[in-house]
Amino acid sequence: MAVPKSKISPSRRGMRRSHDKLSAAKTHECPNCGEIKRPHHLCPACGHYREREVTEGGDIA
Ligand SMILES: [Zn+2]
Repeated sequence: MAVPKSKISPSRRGMRRSHDKLSAAKTHECPNCGEIKRPHHLCPACGHYREREVTEGGDIA
């Protein structure tokens, strides 16, 4: 079994973890109703995508 040759120092561990952070989800404003929505996603408030209606009432099944 592959086993680490030596213990990772707190500094090395920190360097590795410097890339682990999560970024907050990006949001865009819906061009139809102005509601905050995720980019490339259907608007949850009005059901529009790319300025036309895709669903009725905006509920996503
Ligand atoms: Zn909308």
